[in-house]
Amino acid sequence: MGTLFKNGTIITASDMVQADLLVEGEVITQIGRDLPVSGHLVVDCTNKYLMPGGIDVHTHLELPFGGTVSNDDFDTGHKAAAFGGTTSHIDFVIQPKGGSLHDGLTAWRKKAAVAQIDYGFHLAVTDLRPEVLDEIPSLVAEGVTSLKLFMAYKNVFQIDDATLYKTMQVAAANGMIVMVHAENGDVEASLTPKLLAEGKTDPIYHSHSRPREIEGEATNRAAIMSGMTGCPLYVVHVTCEPAVEAIRRARAIGYPVMGESCTQYFFLTAEGDLGKPGFEGAKYICSPPIRTEHDQAVLWQAVKDGTLQHVSTDHCNFWYEGGVGPWQDWAKQYNGGNWVEFEAQDPTYRRPGKELGKGNFAKIPNGMPGLEERMMVMWEHGVNSGRFSPQHFVEVMCTNPAKIFGMYPKKGALTIGADADIVVWDPNLKHTLSVSNTHMRTDYIVYEGMEITGKPVQVYLRGQKVVDGDEWLGSNGSGKFIHRHPHAPVL
Ligand SMILES: [Zn+2]
Repeated sequence: MGTLFKNGTIITASDMVQADLLVEGEVITQIGRDLPVSGHLVVDCTNKYLMPGGIDVHTHLELPFGGTVSNDDFDTGHKAAAFGGTTSHIDFVIQPKGGSLHDGLTAWRKKAAVAQIDYGFHLAVTDLRPEVLDEIPSLVAEGVTSLKLFMAYKNVFQIDDATLYKTMQVAAANGMIVMVHAENGDVEASLTPKLLAEGKTDPIYHSHSRPREIEGEATNRAAIMSGMTGCPLYVVHVTCEPAVEAIRRARAIGYPVMGESCTQYFFLTAEGDLGKPGFEGAKYICSPPIRTEHDQAVLWQAVKDGTLQHVSTDHCNFWYEGGVGPWQDWAKQYNGGNWVEFEAQDPTYRRPGKELGKGNFAKIPNGMPGLEERMMVMWEHGVNSGRFSPQHFVEVMCTNPAKIFGMYPKKGALTIGADADIVVWDPNLKHTLSVSNTHMRTDYIVYEGMEITGKPVQVYLRGQKVVDGDEWLGSNGSGKFIHRHPHAPVL
């Protein structure tokens, strides 16, 4: 017996057609008009859209960072993602300083033991000793085909140009893709102490410490190296015109350069949000910082014309008011998983959050929630506002990320043989985004009060229903690792 999705409108990156879709086991086995009902469980999709499960290639679940650990893990983050229509994501494994890439993988596999949706791993290289460079090709056999390098966060994650160049050479030779956080970390590291010394400690000064120019410069530097080495480059969280222009120039001369932006950069501004009175602006601190309305318009155009191929979230959320309960004692015991248990034992407990940076913007943990809302806000402001078609929405949110990161057409497609990751989307359902109805582990959201029309009503992961209205039907351990392939196309 299969599951037959009847009378819906199927949306793919290329088509929007009325058809039935049959799922048997974990995959799609038939798509066509008036498929016979015989013996199948029927899901009536009248007036609904069927889309591939969303893919978010940029998340940081349970990430140790900025003196604490990000809130959502492979349990809560996965549920929230699925309620928003995202069924697969790729998280960043961080190589421990002094350790190997495989040490990082081992730590992240432990975190993912509770997985509820499917996930892949990028490997963030932080300490490129000669033996680590030799280790890189072995990742391909593990299904990890993308590397991430930070051009920012001096003395924490930042790598130098020689490291970036050498890594690109090795990646290119092995069919891998290199991702960069593109900001000039040396310039940032000289701007920040000067601002603090001048008493400029409020959240708004975070954006002064990381101006658009240093993002544009680093993006251009990485793009040039991509052209020189032939290594496909994917620039993460592009926020502004100088960075978009650098990518556009590189693509125009045939360099294999791609990029993404993240939902928050289309909606928030430094002046309006980081500049909120008191400490409120801390909620919106991420790097690179949120920018201007002009940059927002540039980003919408870049997604529309294909200069940017994907919109992710960079989901990395911290409590606005954290550090509640005897967290110091617990922090001592943190070993990459225990915080979850502490929270289960004492629901009043909150690990440290944004309050760590009161009186010093540079100490505010970087990042914000967004994993759950991504599909809904981009549908509302992309499709409903007429900026792009439903097909282009699917292309950007589901199909392109699967292609670029070597998991297409198993993921990101509604086609025969693909994993049955299916979102039943009600385009007429009205909903108001609020912290009071979110599934993320957070005390604020950045789209509070935003009214949207269109949201998932049922979500299927490899044929299993995990979301039914407000009900969660998934289970810990049912999310699978996505073994990705090298030599993915450059879009
Ligand atoms: Zn990130």
